Amino acid sequence: SISLENKRVLVTAAAQGIGRASALAFARTGAQVVATDINEAALADLSAEHNITTRRLNVLSDDEVKAVVSETGPFDILFNCAGFVHSGSVLDMKDSDLAFAFDLNVHAMVRTIRAVLPGMIERGGGAIINMSSVASSMKGVPNRCAYSVTKAAVIGLTKSVAAEYVAQGIRCNAICPGTVESPSLQDRLKSQGDYEAARAAFIARQPIGRLGTPDEIADLAVYLAGATYTTGQAYAIDGGWTI
Ligand code: NAD
Repeated sequence: SISLENKRVLVTAAAQGIGRASALAFARTGAQVVATDINEAALADLSAEHNITTRRLNVLSDDEVKAVVSETGPFDILFNCAGFVHSGSVLDMKDSDLAFAFDLNVHAMVRTIRAVLPGMIERGGGAIINMSSVASSMKGVPNRCAYSVTKAAVIGLTKSVAAEYVAQGIRCNAICPGTVESPSLQDRLKSQGDYEAARAAFIARQPIGRLGTPDEIADLAVYLAGATYTTGQAYAIDGGWTI
Protein backbone atom coordinates (compact mmCIF):
# COMPACT_ATOMS: atom_id res chain seq x y z
CA SER A 1 0.00 0.00 0.00
CA ILE A 2 1.01 3.58 -0.62
CA SER A 3 2.61 5.57 2.20
CA LEU A 4 3.24 9.28 1.95
CA GLU A 5 4.56 9.47 5.52
CA ASN A 6 6.64 12.65 5.94
CA LYS A 7 6.45 13.54 2.25
CA ARG A 8 6.16 17.29 1.76
CA VAL A 9 3.18 18.35 -0.36
CA LEU A 10 2.25 21.70 -1.89
CA VAL A 11 -1.45 22.07 -2.80
CA THR A 12 -2.82 25.10 -4.67
CA ALA A 13 -6.46 26.21 -4.41
CA ALA A 14 -6.82 24.33 -1.13
CA ALA A 15 -9.46 26.54 0.50
CA GLN A 16 -12.47 24.72 -0.95
CA GLY A 17 -13.65 21.95 -3.24
CA ILE A 18 -11.21 19.35 -4.56
CA GLY A 19 -8.11 21.21 -3.33
CA ARG A 20 -9.38 21.30 0.24
CA ALA A 21 -10.42 17.64 0.20
CA SER A 22 -6.99 16.77 -1.20
CA ALA A 23 -5.07 18.73 1.43
CA LEU A 24 -6.99 16.81 4.09
CA ALA A 25 -6.50 13.48 2.31
CA PHE A 26 -2.74 14.02 1.95
CA ALA A 27 -2.52 14.99 5.63
CA ARG A 28 -4.35 11.79 6.65
CA THR A 29 -1.65 9.71 4.93
CA GLY A 30 1.00 11.28 7.19
CA ALA A 31 2.32 13.73 4.60
CA GLN A 32 3.24 17.28 5.60
CA VAL A 33 0.95 19.58 3.64
CA VAL A 34 1.32 23.26 2.76
CA ALA A 35 -2.23 24.23 1.79
CA THR A 36 -2.42 27.44 -0.22
CA ASP A 37 -5.12 29.68 -1.74
CA ILE A 38 -5.96 33.34 -2.30
CA ASN A 39 -9.02 32.97 -0.06
CA GLU A 40 -7.30 33.24 3.31
CA ALA A 41 -10.57 33.31 5.25
CA ALA A 42 -11.72 29.97 3.81
CA LEU A 43 -8.22 28.52 4.21
CA ALA A 44 -7.85 29.53 7.86
CA ASP A 45 -9.49 26.58 9.64
CA LEU A 46 -7.31 24.08 7.74
CA SER A 47 -4.33 25.26 9.78
CA ALA A 48 -5.88 23.60 12.84
CA GLU A 49 -5.63 20.22 11.09
CA HIS A 50 -2.84 17.80 11.93
CA ASN A 51 -0.03 17.86 9.30
CA ILE A 52 -1.34 20.99 7.53
CA THR A 53 0.07 24.49 7.45
CA THR A 54 -1.60 27.21 5.41
CA ARG A 55 -0.18 30.01 3.30
CA ARG A 56 -1.72 32.68 1.12
CA LEU A 57 -0.65 32.03 -2.45
CA ASN A 58 -1.96 33.70 -5.58
CA VAL A 59 -0.72 31.41 -8.36
CA LEU A 60 -1.02 34.28 -10.85
CA SER A 61 2.00 35.88 -9.19
CA ASP A 62 5.42 34.46 -10.00
CA ASP A 63 6.91 36.37 -7.05
CA GLU A 64 4.40 34.83 -4.61
CA VAL A 65 5.00 31.33 -6.00
CA LYS A 66 8.77 31.71 -5.65
CA ALA A 67 8.48 33.15 -2.15
CA VAL A 68 6.17 30.41 -0.85
CA VAL A 69 8.30 27.64 -2.33
CA SER A 70 11.56 29.08 -0.99
CA GLU A 71 10.04 29.62 2.47
CA THR A 72 8.09 26.36 2.82
CA GLY A 73 9.85 23.94 0.39
CA PRO A 74 11.39 21.71 -0.68
CA PHE A 75 8.49 19.56 -1.83
CA ASP A 76 8.20 15.90 -2.83
CA ILE A 77 4.69 16.33 -4.22
CA LEU A 78 2.99 19.21 -6.04
CA PHE A 79 -0.76 19.21 -6.62
CA ASN A 80 -1.68 21.99 -9.04
CA CYS A 81 -5.41 22.30 -8.39
CA ALA A 82 -6.17 25.97 -9.10
CA GLY A 83 -8.43 26.60 -12.07
CA PHE A 84 -11.41 28.63 -13.25
CA VAL A 85 -14.38 27.66 -15.42
CA HIS A 86 -15.49 30.18 -18.05
CA SER A 87 -18.81 29.55 -19.77
CA GLY A 88 -19.29 30.20 -23.47
CA SER A 89 -18.61 29.07 -27.04
CA VAL A 90 -15.73 30.15 -29.25
CA LEU A 91 -17.95 33.00 -30.50
CA ASP A 92 -18.96 34.06 -26.97
CA MET A 93 -15.43 33.92 -25.62
CA LYS A 94 -13.68 37.23 -25.04
CA ASP A 95 -9.93 37.40 -25.67
CA SER A 96 -9.58 38.50 -22.07
CA ASP A 97 -11.40 35.33 -20.88
CA LEU A 98 -9.04 33.14 -22.89
CA ALA A 99 -6.01 35.06 -21.62
CA PHE A 100 -7.19 34.77 -18.01
CA ALA A 101 -7.97 31.07 -18.42
CA PHE A 102 -4.47 30.45 -19.80
CA ASP A 103 -2.91 32.43 -16.97
CA LEU A 104 -4.75 30.63 -14.16
CA ASN A 105 -5.35 27.17 -15.63
CA VAL A 106 -2.02 26.68 -17.42
CA HIS A 107 0.63 29.32 -16.79
CA ALA A 108 0.14 29.10 -13.01
CA MET A 109 1.11 25.41 -13.24
CA VAL A 110 4.22 26.38 -15.20
CA ARG A 111 5.10 28.82 -12.40
CA THR A 112 4.73 26.28 -9.60
CA ILE A 113 6.48 23.52 -11.56
CA ARG A 114 9.43 25.83 -12.29
CA ALA A 115 9.64 26.72 -8.62
CA VAL A 116 9.40 23.16 -7.26
CA LEU A 117 11.04 20.95 -9.90
CA PRO A 118 14.71 21.93 -9.35
CA GLY A 119 14.43 20.80 -5.72
CA MET A 120 12.81 17.53 -6.76
CA ILE A 121 15.57 16.87 -9.31
CA GLU A 122 18.25 17.68 -6.76
CA ARG A 123 16.77 15.19 -4.30
CA GLY A 124 16.25 12.50 -6.93
CA GLY A 125 12.48 12.36 -7.23
CA GLY A 126 9.05 13.85 -6.98
CA ALA A 127 5.45 13.64 -8.11
CA ILE A 128 3.49 16.39 -9.85
CA ILE A 129 -0.27 16.16 -10.29
CA ASN A 130 -2.02 18.66 -12.53
CA MET A 131 -5.76 19.30 -12.48
CA SER A 132 -7.24 18.98 -15.96
CA SER A 133 -10.81 17.93 -16.82
CA VAL A 134 -12.57 15.56 -19.19
CA ALA A 135 -13.61 18.84 -20.87
CA SER A 136 -10.23 19.08 -22.63
CA SER A 137 -8.65 16.98 -25.37
CA MET A 138 -10.62 14.04 -23.92
CA LYS A 139 -14.12 15.22 -24.71
CA GLY A 140 -15.76 18.13 -26.49
CA VAL A 141 -18.20 19.90 -24.18
CA PRO A 142 -20.46 22.74 -25.35
CA ASN A 143 -20.30 26.12 -23.56
CA ARG A 144 -16.78 25.44 -22.24
CA CYS A 145 -14.45 26.80 -24.92
CA ALA A 146 -11.82 28.73 -22.91
CA TYR A 147 -11.95 26.05 -20.23
CA SER A 148 -11.49 23.10 -22.60
CA VAL A 149 -8.70 24.79 -24.57
CA THR A 150 -6.73 25.40 -21.38
CA LYS A 151 -7.47 22.04 -19.75
CA ALA A 152 -6.22 20.34 -22.94
CA ALA A 153 -3.04 22.40 -22.59
CA VAL A 154 -2.66 21.04 -19.06
CA ILE A 155 -2.46 17.53 -20.52
CA GLY A 156 0.24 18.71 -22.97
CA LEU A 157 2.19 20.30 -20.13
CA THR A 158 1.82 17.12 -18.08
CA LYS A 159 3.17 14.89 -20.84
CA SER A 160 6.03 17.29 -21.59
CA VAL A 161 7.19 17.38 -17.97
CA ALA A 162 6.75 13.62 -17.64
CA ALA A 163 8.81 12.85 -20.76
CA GLU A 164 11.55 15.32 -19.91
CA TYR A 165 12.21 14.29 -16.31
CA VAL A 166 11.26 10.61 -16.09
CA ALA A 167 14.91 9.56 -15.86
CA GLN A 168 15.39 11.88 -12.89
CA GLY A 169 12.70 10.21 -10.83
CA ILE A 170 10.01 12.79 -11.49
CA ARG A 171 6.49 11.63 -12.36
CA CYS A 172 3.81 13.97 -13.68
CA ASN A 173 0.17 12.97 -14.21
CA ALA A 174 -3.11 14.79 -14.84
CA ILE A 175 -6.51 14.28 -13.24
CA CYS A 176 -9.54 14.70 -15.48
CA PRO A 177 -12.75 14.83 -13.46
CA GLY A 178 -16.28 14.86 -14.76
CA THR A 179 -18.75 16.98 -12.79
CA VAL A 180 -17.82 17.32 -9.12
CA GLU A 181 -19.81 18.88 -6.29
CA SER A 182 -17.96 22.04 -5.20
CA PRO A 183 -18.65 25.66 -4.23
CA SER A 184 -17.89 26.92 -7.73
CA LEU A 185 -20.13 24.23 -9.25
CA GLN A 186 -22.94 25.56 -7.04
CA ASP A 187 -22.22 29.07 -8.40
CA ARG A 188 -22.38 27.78 -11.98
CA LEU A 189 -25.68 26.00 -11.33
CA LYS A 190 -27.22 29.05 -9.65
CA SER A 191 -26.11 31.35 -12.48
CA GLN A 192 -28.17 29.32 -14.98
CA GLY A 193 -31.50 30.53 -13.60
CA ASP A 194 -33.41 27.27 -13.05
CA TYR A 195 -31.16 25.65 -10.43
CA GLU A 196 -32.97 22.28 -10.28
CA ALA A 197 -33.03 21.88 -14.07
CA ALA A 198 -29.37 22.83 -14.35
CA ARG A 199 -28.44 20.38 -11.61
CA ALA A 200 -30.44 17.57 -13.23
CA ALA A 201 -28.71 18.25 -16.57
CA PHE A 202 -25.27 18.17 -14.95
CA ILE A 203 -26.08 14.91 -13.15
CA ALA A 204 -27.41 13.38 -16.38
CA ARG A 205 -23.97 13.73 -18.00
CA GLN A 206 -22.62 10.98 -15.74
CA PRO A 207 -23.98 7.47 -16.51
CA ILE A 208 -23.27 6.60 -12.87
CA GLY A 209 -26.20 8.91 -12.11
CA ARG A 210 -24.70 11.40 -9.70
CA LEU A 211 -22.05 14.07 -9.31
CA GLY A 212 -18.59 13.17 -8.04
CA THR A 213 -17.43 14.25 -4.61
CA PRO A 214 -14.24 16.17 -3.84
CA ASP A 215 -13.14 13.26 -1.63
CA GLU A 216 -13.32 10.86 -4.56
CA ILE A 217 -11.02 13.10 -6.61
CA ALA A 218 -8.71 13.62 -3.60
CA ASP A 219 -8.26 9.84 -3.35
CA LEU A 220 -6.96 9.80 -6.94
CA ALA A 221 -4.57 12.68 -6.20
CA VAL A 222 -3.15 10.75 -3.23
CA TYR A 223 -2.91 7.60 -5.34
CA LEU A 224 -1.03 9.37 -8.12
CA ALA A 225 1.35 10.97 -5.61
CA GLY A 226 2.47 7.52 -4.52
CA ALA A 227 1.87 5.36 -7.60
CA THR A 228 5.47 4.75 -8.61
CA TYR A 229 4.81 3.07 -11.99
CA THR A 230 2.71 5.69 -13.77
CA THR A 231 3.70 8.94 -15.44
CA GLY A 232 2.54 11.18 -18.27
CA GLN A 233 -1.05 9.98 -18.08
CA ALA A 234 -4.39 11.78 -18.02
CA TYR A 235 -6.73 9.96 -15.59
CA ALA A 236 -10.44 10.31 -16.21
CA ILE A 237 -12.54 10.14 -13.03
CA ASP A 238 -15.91 11.04 -14.38
CA GLY A 239 -18.77 8.74 -13.38
CA GLY A 240 -18.60 7.23 -16.85
CA TRP A 241 -19.03 10.47 -18.82
CA THR A 242 -16.32 9.42 -21.31
CA ILE A 243 -17.23 5.73 -21.60
P1 NAD B 1 -13.65 25.65 -6.67
O1 NAD B 1 -13.69 26.15 -8.10
O2 NAD B 1 -14.92 25.70 -5.91
O3 NAD B 1 -12.55 26.45 -5.86
C1 NAD B 1 -11.43 26.97 -6.52
C2 NAD B 1 -10.44 27.52 -5.51
O4 NAD B 1 -9.41 28.14 -6.27
C3 NAD B 1 -11.02 28.58 -4.58
O5 NAD B 1 -10.70 28.29 -3.23
C4 NAD B 1 -10.32 29.86 -5.05
O6 NAD B 1 -10.09 30.80 -4.01
C5 NAD B 1 -9.01 29.30 -5.59
N1 NAD B 1 -8.33 30.22 -6.49
C6 NAD B 1 -8.90 30.96 -7.48
N2 NAD B 1 -7.97 31.74 -8.05
C7 NAD B 1 -6.80 31.48 -7.42
C8 NAD B 1 -5.48 31.99 -7.56
N3 NAD B 1 -5.20 32.94 -8.46
N4 NAD B 1 -4.50 31.50 -6.75
C9 NAD B 1 -4.79 30.55 -5.83
N5 NAD B 1 -6.02 30.04 -5.65
C10 NAD B 1 -7.01 30.51 -6.43
O7 NAD B 1 -13.04 24.18 -6.64
P2 NAD B 1 -13.30 22.90 -7.59
O8 NAD B 1 -14.60 23.04 -8.32
O9 NAD B 1 -13.05 21.71 -6.73
O10 NAD B 1 -12.17 23.02 -8.71
C11 NAD B 1 -10.80 22.75 -8.43
C12 NAD B 1 -10.12 22.36 -9.72
O11 NAD B 1 -10.74 21.21 -10.26
C13 NAD B 1 -10.14 23.42 -10.82
O12 NAD B 1 -8.91 23.41 -11.52
C14 NAD B 1 -11.27 22.95 -11.71
O13 NAD B 1 -11.14 23.40 -13.03
C15 NAD B 1 -11.07 21.45 -11.61
N6 NAD B 1 -12.27 20.69 -12.00
C16 NAD B 1 -13.43 20.86 -11.30
C17 NAD B 1 -14.55 20.15 -11.70
C18 NAD B 1 -15.88 20.31 -10.99
O14 NAD B 1 -16.90 19.85 -11.52
N7 NAD B 1 -15.94 20.93 -9.82
C19 NAD B 1 -14.49 19.28 -12.80
C20 NAD B 1 -13.27 19.12 -13.46
C21 NAD B 1 -12.17 19.84 -13.06
